[in-house]
Amino acid sequence: RAKDDGGNEHRSYEPSLHANAEERRQLEFALRQALEKSEIELVYQPVVDSRTEAVVSFEALVRWNSAHHGPVSPGKFVPIAEDTRLIVPIGTWVLEQACREATRWPEHVRVAVNVSPEQLFEPDFASAVVRALTASGLDARRLELEVTESIFLRDPSVARASLEQVMALGCTVALDDFGIGYSSLGYLRKISFSTIKVDRSFVQGAAQNSAESLAIIRAVVAMADSLEMTTTAEGVESAEEAELIRKLGCTKIQGYYFGRPMQADDALKLFRRRRADVEERLRA
Ligand code: C2E
Ligand code: MG
Ligand code: MG
Ligand code: MG
Repeated sequence: RAKDDGGNEHRSYEPSLHANAEERRQLEFALRQALEKSEIELVYQPVVDSRTEAVVSFEALVRWNSAHHGPVSPGKFVPIAEDTRLIVPIGTWVLEQACREATRWPEHVRVAVNVSPEQLFEPDFASAVVRALTASGLDARRLELEVTESIFLRDPSVARASLEQVMALGCTVALDDFGIGYSSLGYLRKISFSTIKVDRSFVQGAAQNSAESLAIIRAVVAMADSLEMTTTAEGVESAEEAELIRKLGCTKIQGYYFGRPMQADDALKLFRRRRADVEERLRA
């Protein structure tokens, strides 16, 4: 038996691994048609100023409602889209749709769009951004692009050049999920990120009184301050966490406590409601 197995490796795979590969293949097949079938859409999650709690921006988050598989989470399909490069056309659509919808919001409300390394390393990434801005009429200053530290692993100088092109247009760039990936602090000095987004795992850690998480958030806030960058805490789920984050000095807060990802129209309504709250508090 052992001899047979040695010569015939692919007969001895785990049934569960096989199921995963098969599921993945089917998702990939469906994903190839998702855009043209209009199965892809965007929802928007509010980001608030940590002091006033007014909404300053919304992050666009992609959703896939597959006719065949039902709703598939981005955690599952974005990696498949990245591996197959389907993220390039999907990402272009996301950029265009987010810019289009943001033009209906009040002028000082910004929109943030996640950008995969595969998109950033396309030679015409900056032109895709220009096209999205031109087609929608959105002011470049209202668009923020979110990238993760993984871009530095690949090709730091190309990443930097690409980001500088979009910054020259007037867009800002945020460093997403900070702290969980490959962090070379040197790049923070070289690239003018407007914001560092502190990953949810540190926020949750701090809320559970983890000394390490608290120390990391304090260090990120201090570093961001000295580099003239702002900080956004991700994944704030309660009033207590919001208070803690405020005390730690984060500039902005995002999380279920202030709003779950929602449709563009609801985003506009939420903005109006929060503005009324803020004005009332200022009057009182
Ligand atoms: P991300 O960019 O870090 O987005 C934040 C994620 O945290 C979102 O998950 C959001 O729904 C979730 N979240 C926000 N507040 C809370 C909270 O209080 N508690 C908890 N438990 N979760 C919270 P989502 O929408 O499932 O997206 C997951 C990831 O998929 C994103 O992480 C981003 O990396 C990627 N992604 C989403 N949309 C796009 C897109 O249009 N393009 C690309 N390339 N990636 C995207
Ligand atoms: Mg993001
Ligand atoms: Mg994030
Ligand atoms: Mg995160």
